[in-house]
Amino acid sequence: MNAPQLLQGIPFLAAQPARDGAHLVLFGCPFDSTISFRPGSRFGPQAIRAVSDVLETYCPVLDRDLEDVTFADVGDLPLPPGDSRAALNMVRHLAAEIHAGKQIPAGLGGEHLLTLPLVEAAIEAHPNLVVLQFDAHMDMREDYLGVELSHATVMRKICDIIGPQRILQVGPRSGTRAEFAAANRLGNLKTIRVTGAEIAEWIGDRPVYVTVDLDVLDPSVFPGTGTPEPGGVDFATLQIWIAALAGKQWVGWDVMELSPVYDPTQVSAVVAAKVVRTMILASLARN
Ligand code: MN
Ligand code: MN
Repeated sequence: MNAPQLLQGIPFLAAQPARDGAHLVLFGCPFDSTISFRPGSRFGPQAIRAVSDVLETYCPVLDRDLEDVTFADVGDLPLPPGDSRAALNMVRHLAAEIHAGKQIPAGLGGEHLLTLPLVEAAIEAHPNLVVLQFDAHMDMREDYLGVELSHATVMRKICDIIGPQRILQVGPRSGTRAEFAAANRLGNLKTIRVTGAEIAEWIGDRPVYVTVDLDVLDPSVFPGTGTPEPGGVDFATLQIWIAALAGKQWVGWDVMELSPVYDPTQVSAVVAAKVVRTMILASLARN
């Protein structure tokens, strides 16, 4: 497959436009074809970049600055609406290329299904990785209305590859009794009362892929998403969780499910951009 031309827009705050020399490569995945409730996350990547300018480059929680690290924002993949397999292949292909360059791929969503090809590419480069998922939902369904590739099945697909012991889910608060019973039996489910230290301890020295489904945040903090779920975490706690992972061996990450159209105040987009800033700084703490 030939590499597609990426769509260039305004880059994320302080990002360089070209991949060469960067330790981390951001790219947008504007795709939302399998959403179950309300669409719009395809507009997420551009909305995050557009408001990123409102942030400072310095993060007091991490005492790190975007100016201290080298990262690129290479634009958006032109993902074909309605064709999940083609879209996932394109995402996987780009992520694999970035891994081949010993850089960290970082995807901006887009719907949560896009995490599947990102994790698949990361597994090829780092077969022993673990996956940390922040999410209001488990996304462990076998299928959604008969469709196997869906934002509601993404973690099941990943689980089928690496097994449940290598996945930690933080924040799920919606699902069937059977789903919760199964997850609790495996011990891979944490409520929003978990601490950053506990999450960091679970990871240990294993390479880690971190996926943030932004609906882990409470809808009062983050209404701009497709499936809002009350009972979520506040921004400061999420930021502390991510900051606690600075120094770990990050091998890839994503921030998914901003649907800017549901929040005309743009606060959700600013929240998403600040999550992205924290992820950049935490994942590059070793560099
Ligand atoms: Mn979710
Ligand atoms: Mn999800």
